[in-house]
Amino acid sequence: MKVNWLIIGAGYSACVLAERIATQLAQKVLIVERRDHIAGNAYDYYNEHGILVHKYGPHIFHTKSKKVWDYLSQFTEWRHYFHHVLGVIEGKKVPIPFNLNSLYALFPPRYAEKLEELLLEKFGFGVKVPILKLRESANGELEFLANYIYENVFLRYTTKQWELKPEELDRGVTGRVPVYISRDNRYFQDTYQAMPKHGYTEMFRRMLAHPNIKLLLNTDYREIINDIKFNRIICTGPLDNFFDYMHGELPYRSLRFQFDTLDQECYQEVGTVNYPNEYDITRITEQKYLSGQTLPKTTLVMEYPQPFVPGKNDPYYPIPREENRERCELYLKEVEKLNGSVLFAGRLADYKYYDMDQATLRALGLFEKEIAV
Ligand code: FAD
Ligand code: UDP
Repeated sequence: MKVNWLIIGAGYSACVLAERIATQLAQKVLIVERRDHIAGNAYDYYNEHGILVHKYGPHIFHTKSKKVWDYLSQFTEWRHYFHHVLGVIEGKKVPIPFNLNSLYALFPPRYAEKLEELLLEKFGFGVKVPILKLRESANGELEFLANYIYENVFLRYTTKQWELKPEELDRGVTGRVPVYISRDNRYFQDTYQAMPKHGYTEMFRRMLAHPNIKLLLNTDYREIINDIKFNRIICTGPLDNFFDYMHGELPYRSLRFQFDTLDQECYQEVGTVNYPNEYDITRITEQKYLSGQTLPKTTLVMEYPQPFVPGKNDPYYPIPREENRERCELYLKEVEKLNGSVLFAGRLADYKYYDMDQATLRALGLFEKEIAV
């Protein structure tokens, strides 16, 4: 077989690039995917109860980028959906990100009012304050509040998820879920928030439906690389693995997902409930909130954080912190030596904590700047 491009992986990064190359440049692409399906970690399927579930954990689409929204909208219709999350704090379920409503749910009204006034005075309404910043800048009663939120919302959740404390990670990690001085209970505030109407997998199926795109599933690219003629490679798999770990392993975190189907219509009040302080899980997501289905049963997915063990489980999260970035830099120097014969993009190949929209934007950018030139 002869193709212009060999693409490793079949997730967002790979599929966006394959689609662009096939339709805009009329070049031939072979996608090689280790798993038995497309869509990468966004893969979803209907389980035996007819409920659309996300095999690799709950994926909620949200973006500020019109470019990403317009691009993906070519391949799917959408069901508008605002994700809501509650966190169990001292036995009460309160809105996450922690906001003014959370304050009133946890503290007596007069005290909550006082804390609200102090927050408004210091930061102003509508402002998002990452917990580490709140802790640094708060004093007096606000210092109490900052420590309370740190202890009850962030510390144990983060320790479960990463085996690290919030301050041992890049600030952006806990900054993804900032304290929000507002009464908006939505998990995200992006302009575009929606779920693909027929699921992510169907969206990817449409993206890849082009005669210039061939797909090989259940295959590690190393098994076929010597049997295929190609001009260039795009790698969306792990960066360290591509280079045979020559500079050591880039650390990742993994998860174990447990699915449970209950013989009842509904289990919890919102899409996701976080358990920062209890159990070994971080959160429970009820899939039907994401799909909008009305069915007599309901499927839940529980997330158990795990160390990543190559060959045993999957690398889901790059671990954003200085020492890992330094190691990543060593690999990026190897990338430079390849002079563009191999391009890298994606959460694993860039070793960056991308959301789906960021992976899409990165792939579109790579296409525009380094492929379609
Ligand atoms: P991937 O989807 O990881 O695709 C890489 C593919 O490469 C994989 O399918 C892998 O099997 C394949 N591969 C690797 N090595 C090889 C090899 N040697 N040969 C062949 N194939 C190989 N984002 C959001 O925007 N919203 C969310 O709510 C959200 N929730 C998430 C929840 C969890 C638990 C996780 C883990 C991620 C979540 N994300 C979410 C992030 C989202 O999954 C990623 O942004 C997106 O999937 C990245 O796409 P990708 O193509 O870069 O990587
Ligand atoms: N986080 C936390 N408590 C929460 C929610 C989030 O400590 O109730 C921290 C935790 O470190 C987590 C990070 O914020 O890993 C980012 O959360 P997000 O929900 O964005 O994680 P993802 O959906 O990517 O797993």
